[in-house]
Amino acid sequence: MAQHRAGVKGRERAALIGIVAGRARRLEAERSLDELAGLAQAAGADVVLRVLQERPKPDPNTFLGAGKIQTLALSTDETNVDLVVFDDELTPSQLRHIEEAVGRKVIDRTQLILDIFARRARTREGKLQVELAQLKYMLPRLSGSGTALSRLGGGIGTRGPGETKLETDRRRLRTRIKSIGDDIEQVRKRRSQLRERRHKTSVPTVALVGYTNAGKTTLFNVLTRAEAEASDALFVTLDPLVRQVRLPDSRELLISDTVGFIDRLPHALVAAFRATLEETADADLVVHVIDAAAPDRDRRMQAVQSVLEEVGAVDVPMLEVYNKGDALTDDERRRLHDLDPSVLCISALHRQGIGELIETITSRLALDVRRVTLTFNPDDEADRERIARVYRHGRVVLHETRDGQASIVADVPRRLLSWLGQT
Ligand code: GDP
Ligand code: MG
Repeated sequence: MAQHRAGVKGRERAALIGIVAGRARRLEAERSLDELAGLAQAAGADVVLRVLQERPKPDPNTFLGAGKIQTLALSTDETNVDLVVFDDELTPSQLRHIEEAVGRKVIDRTQLILDIFARRARTREGKLQVELAQLKYMLPRLSGSGTALSRLGGGIGTRGPGETKLETDRRRLRTRIKSIGDDIEQVRKRRSQLRERRHKTSVPTVALVGYTNAGKTTLFNVLTRAEAEASDALFVTLDPLVRQVRLPDSRELLISDTVGFIDRLPHALVAAFRATLEETADADLVVHVIDAAAPDRDRRMQAVQSVLEEVGAVDVPMLEVYNKGDALTDDERRRLHDLDPSVLCISALHRQGIGELIETITSRLALDVRRVTLTFNPDDEADRERIARVYRHGRVVLHETRDGQASIVADVPRRLLSWLGQT
């Protein structure tokens, strides 16, 4: 029996395994494995071994082939690996064969990503969504050794349950899947009511999207703390990632920080997070945060684009923001500028270009104000609502009432003008 020894401070020691389809794909595979290493670290593991194997396609039984899997078993012994992570999705039978041969915990890219999402989920809905995706991933893999279920925690299945046990486990999984589905439906209903209320108050929403590690959360914090007094009171119960921002001149907007997009985001997860990401499709403006210094910047931008397409957010106006400008050389910055002279290059970390970003956002949202003179009938219900709205979203300079008419001079955000009957 192989020894499982945890690394420093209880961090697991991980081996990463990928295959290279041909020499030409080498660089691509290296990058993918680099990213897998980042994911493993995010999940709390130390990478102690990397294996890139040239192979036209995976072996149906052991992924690497019988000989190579034995070599892998030896190397994992030598390096005291706790966890073996494959860069591609494994079939249930591959998973079983590899686990038997290597005698250690084996997971694939999808499981690793699910694990990270499980750790990061903060909202009730997020937690439910991740659990649902995990259960759906486990269901077809519930066979033979039964290790899949025991890994889920709660000590449900043990190694090698009999057929009856297996059936019970399956039934319990299906019941749980059904009940989570119902819970999510509830949460969704409340969300959409909430969204409607936000629309009614016509507070514009901005969704930050971007590849994982692009700097979304850093920017979110800068935008919601530095430039304004942030208040998470209003929407905190349902989604702490949406915050209301009141700009110094009392204009307000809502900003949401989304889950990071990752290349080859497991399909089950995209489906599971659809509800969360629909927030994005519903935004007035999508701000795409780009790591300007990433060597594979274009590929990442493309990956984000395809997720946006998948959740139906392509019609939302988008603003591209190149972050980590501080990490670029002068040459690189010039090249970026040549590509598009109006490019927004910022540094969320060093708070550079934030003012300009806010200006651009407010002008894209038509939040910039115009001074108008409005007349209302205070006895009219609808007009009273309009007056309240002008006070709420604009800055009133003068308010006179004469002959039963209210005359108001105010600086009003452009987006409210058509609603107020102004053009
Ligand atoms: P997210 O995954 O998109 O939310 O990214 P985070 O906001 O968590 O940031 C990921 C990493 O990038 C962190 O280590 C940040 O400190 C770093 N980072 C964020 N913004 C900048 C920036 O403008 N310049 C540099 N050099 N690093 C940044
Ligand atoms: Mg983040």
